[in-house]
Amino acid sequence: MVIPGESTVEHGMEDTDLIIIGAGPTGMFATFCAGLREIKSITLESLDTHGGQMLELYPEKIVYDVQAVPKMKAIDLSDKMYEQSRLFNQRIEFNSKVTDVIPENGKFTIEVNDQKKYTAKAILVCGGVGDFHPNKLGIEGEDEYSRKGVYYAVKSVDGFKDKTVAIVGGGDSAFDYQMQLSPVCKKTYIIQHNNTFKAAESSVDAVKRDAKAEIIMNTDVKKINGDGNGVKSMELFDNASKTSRTIEVDAVIVAIGYKVNPSVFKSLNLETSNRYIKVDHNYKTSTEGVYAAGDIANVSDEPKFALIAVGGAEAYIAINNIKKYISPNASLFGGHSSSLKI
Ligand SMILES: Cc1cc2nc3c(=O)[nH]c(=O)nc-3n(C[C@H](O)[C@H](O)[C@H](O)COP(=O)(O)OP(=O)(O)OC[C@H]3O[C@@H](n4cnc5c(N)ncnc54)[C@H](O)[C@@H]3O)c2cc1C
Repeated sequence: MVIPGESTVEHGMEDTDLIIIGAGPTGMFATFCAGLREIKSITLESLDTHGGQMLELYPEKIVYDVQAVPKMKAIDLSDKMYEQSRLFNQRIEFNSKVTDVIPENGKFTIEVNDQKKYTAKAILVCGGVGDFHPNKLGIEGEDEYSRKGVYYAVKSVDGFKDKTVAIVGGGDSAFDYQMQLSPVCKKTYIIQHNNTFKAAESSVDAVKRDAKAEIIMNTDVKKINGDGNGVKSMELFDNASKTSRTIEVDAVIVAIGYKVNPSVFKSLNLETSNRYIKVDHNYKTSTEGVYAAGDIANVSDEPKFALIAVGGAEAYIAINNIKKYISPNASLFGGHSSSLKI
């Protein structure tokens, strides 16, 4: 029984108006917009840093298609976005994986790292491609040399200076990594298990023209060898000629895709389509009070433009609708930011 005047918030839980899930580009802009609309919000990020895909998958690549930013490294763009997200001192908590969102008493209880931690009136899911883990080759030596020569993304080009690097995979990521690394590497290999590439034709042509690149097709990687401290070579099996050989390498980049656990929470019966949470044109999901934006959300069943600027625009629309949901008397549009004096 609830005694009048007594808080319904479970002991130890913190109450807020809005929980934003994810501090990728969409979650960071949503955090800024929540500040702009004076919404009490907490943003929860499972990783120990902001940036989402920008930092995890392509920190050193240059991004050209964000408004007012002619060109900027993804890692620097993420820092700028974080600075903007903190303009109104909204809270962002790292190492905080949202493990469930439970509808209770007209509110939501948010479980973080498997513990009930917050209650909120509304939820905005900006979980992007979700909790992503790179696919592994599953071969001997891979785990032993993980981060000691075996990597799943290029986080610092300089770390590969003067090295011979084998990139396993035939998609855009594999070819992007090759093009990033080639200027600093001694030699690069692209190793593909079959005889086709999924990467853009222009990238494949560029790598074919690169004198420092060798493309090896129809070939499986069987084993990664090292000296205990780092990678020294890898064993290959040519599926066409049925022959084995060993090549000397200093590093292996495994670029064979990601396993994605979309941020769809067991206690929320959200309608989904393919890997997306379905939303309407206000970025509202099938559950009242739950909104979604960015790479995880889609208004149609068609593939979406998964881009930073698109996620930002969606976050803006979602937050203004959330404002109206939380405070029905508020206006939908909060006015131009150029009217602010801060
Ligand atoms: C190689 C590559 C290059 C790209 N280049 C460009 C480009 O040039 N221009 C462009 O506009 N776009 C580019 N993109 C796409 C762009 O990065 C994405 O559209 C953008 O990152 C989507 O942002 P997001 O915040 O929606 O999702 P994400 O970036 O995926 O961020 C989601 C965040 O949510 C967190 N999260 C997920 N689940 C939970 C949970 N349960 N609890 C807490 N936190 C959680 C994740 O850890 C992550 O930090 C590129 C993508 C790739 C892979």
